[in-house]
Amino acid sequence: MGILFKNGKIITASDAIDADVLVEGEVVTLIGQDLRADNHELVDCAGKFLLPGGIDVHTHLDLPFGGTISNDDFDVGHMAAAFGGTTTHIDFVVQPIGGSLRDGLETWWAKSRDIAQIDYGFHMAVTDLNDAVMAEIPTMLDEGITSLKLFMAYKNVFQIDDATLFNTMRVAADHGMIVMVHAENGDVEAALTPALLAAGKTDPVYHAASRPPEIEGEATNRAVVMSGLTGCPLYVVHMTCEPAIEALRRGRALGYPVMGETCVQYFFLTVDDHMALPGFEGAKYVCSPPIRSKQDHGLLWQAVRDGTLQVVSTDHCDFWYDGGHGPWQEWNERTGGRDWVGYEKQDPSYRRPGKELGMGNFAKIPNGMPGLEDRMLVMWDAGVNSGKLSPSRFVELCCSNPAKIFGMYPRKGTIAVGSDADILVWDPNKQHTISAETHHMRVDYNCYEGRVVTGLPVQVYQRGRKLVDGAQWHGSNGSGQFVPRAAGAPVL
Ligand SMILES: [Zn+2]
Repeated sequence: MGILFKNGKIITASDAIDADVLVEGEVVTLIGQDLRADNHELVDCAGKFLLPGGIDVHTHLDLPFGGTISNDDFDVGHMAAAFGGTTTHIDFVVQPIGGSLRDGLETWWAKSRDIAQIDYGFHMAVTDLNDAVMAEIPTMLDEGITSLKLFMAYKNVFQIDDATLFNTMRVAADHGMIVMVHAENGDVEAALTPALLAAGKTDPVYHAASRPPEIEGEATNRAVVMSGLTGCPLYVVHMTCEPAIEALRRGRALGYPVMGETCVQYFFLTVDDHMALPGFEGAKYVCSPPIRSKQDHGLLWQAVRDGTLQVVSTDHCDFWYDGGHGPWQEWNERTGGRDWVGYEKQDPSYRRPGKELGMGNFAKIPNGMPGLEDRMLVMWDAGVNSGKLSPSRFVELCCSNPAKIFGMYPRKGTIAVGSDADILVWDPNKQHTISAETHHMRVDYNCYEGRVVTGLPVQVYQRGRKLVDGAQWHGSNGSGQFVPRAAGAPVL
């Protein structure tokens, strides 16, 4: 006995077709017209679309950063993702300075194994490259990890130098791996920030002034050129502005294997309307690179429409706006900054430190914002409903391209015979008001508060198991699986 999705319209990256979908076990086994119900469980999808489960390839769950740890973990974060139609994500393992890649991997296994509720993979962030680590890079393929992340920003924390970037790309190219970069010139940022602070410019809005578009464009161009020199596929994460997009366009025009992503917040939020809010409110919107201007929103829509950018993800990394409640300093001392979930479970009023860490100093505001649950909803509403994106282009950006670029297609990212039955029953007419009051992310604000969206997943399936049914959650800890990925993925 399987599950038969009847009378829906299947949307893939290439087609929109009226057909039934039969799921047996964890995979799609048959797609066709007027399939017989037999003794299958019937899901009536009349008036609904069937979309492949969303894939967010840029998340930071349970990430230690700036003196705290991001709120959402592989438990709550997974539930929130699924309610928003995302059934698979790729998170970033961070190599500890002085440690091996495997050390980082063990740490992230411990965060996710036995807890995961949706499927997930890992990128490997290389922070400390030496000969031993260089030799270790290809062994990541045995772990199902095909992508390496390098930071050109965050000086004296994660930032790597050009030699490291170049050498990593050479090794990656030899093994069919892909290199991802956070492209901002960290040296320039490190010079601008103290000057702003010394001039008394300490409010959240000055975070944007410390990271102007030019330093994103410069770093993007540097990485693009190195991709051209080494032949290593490059994926530039969270692109926000014209100088960066232009660098990518130039590289693509030259035939370099370069691709780019942007994140949902960069289409909607601006420095003027959000970061410059009175008081400390702007801290909610501090992330790197910073959100930009309305003009940049237009450029990004153009870039996802014309194929310059291939993916829309989130960079989800959320922190309390009003955090740091309860005796967290004592807890921190006793546990070494671990198990903040345990801390918050002791008393409903307890909160780990959050954005307030940067009051009076924008450089100390933990970088990042929530978005994992919102991405598909706001992109559909603002993209598809407005006619900027076709439903198929939406699927490409949010589901198929992420799966292809990161080596999990066609198992993930489409609805096809043999694919995992990660299926969204999407109601294009259903309205929903986004709010921190009702979202499932563990955070006290939402970047799209009050926004009414039309179109959302009313049922969410992963490998044939129902995770979401309206407001009901049916997921369980440990049922999410690690997705090993294949090297040699295509350059799109
Ligand atoms: Zn990130």
